[in-house]
Amino acid sequence: MKTQLIFLGAPGSGKGTQAAWLVKEKGLSHLSTGDLLREEVAKGTELGKKVSEIMSSGNLVDDDTVMELLKNNCDLANHSYIFDGYPRNIEQVKVLDDKFLKSVSYHCLYFKVDTDKLVRRITARRVCSNCNSIYNVISLPPKQEGVCDSCGESALMQRKDDTEEVVKNRIEVFLKTMVPVLEYYQEKNALTEINASNDVEEVRKDLVSALEKRKILS
Ligand code: AMP
Repeated sequence: MKTQLIFLGAPGSGKGTQAAWLVKEKGLSHLSTGDLLREEVAKGTELGKKVSEIMSSGNLVDDDTVMELLKNNCDLANHSYIFDGYPRNIEQVKVLDDKFLKSVSYHCLYFKVDTDKLVRRITARRVCSNCNSIYNVISLPPKQEGVCDSCGESALMQRKDDTEEVVKNRIEVFLKTMVPVLEYYQEKNALTEINASNDVEEVRKDLVSALEKRKILS
């Protein structure tokens, strides 16, 4: 069984950008519960209708719904996943350990950034609604305004929950629920902290060296 990675970090910590790089360059698979939920909303499914308002406010969707979605989209035997956005609280950690990652080798990376910096970063974030590529109008703009470098569509947009008010709520929710999660993984000696206030390249170097040290990447 392959080693699984769990990426922890507040919204805007850059974990999605780093995950995308590992997928492209190292063949890992990205499993983002936020992306899966947004797909359900976009498709207008029953589940999507149920979670749409909760997501727009920046609050968390209930644990059972997210767990079900994860179960339907997870094939641990054949993939090295990067779990992104899951687990979000200590209850989800227990579910992940008991139901998904029992006797599976895994490691967590915590992308740590100051709150002020996070708010500035997220409100400048743009996402391609066609292929999910991530940009930042200040630090990582697309070559042509509004157009995605990866797929060429004029589909760059600001996520509904990336406005300042909602972002502050999402960060608050994150910090409140993450403390016991970080303590849990720390105690298991399964956590590496990355200084994610640095620029993208530097964070990538620290990430790769942490993964090499643990012999997860060679
Ligand atoms: P993200 O893209 O990870 O920032 O997630 C966007 C939104 O989706 C969050 O603000 C939550 O409303 C919801 N969400 C994503 N992952 C989870 C999760 N593991 N548990 C509960 N809600 C989630």
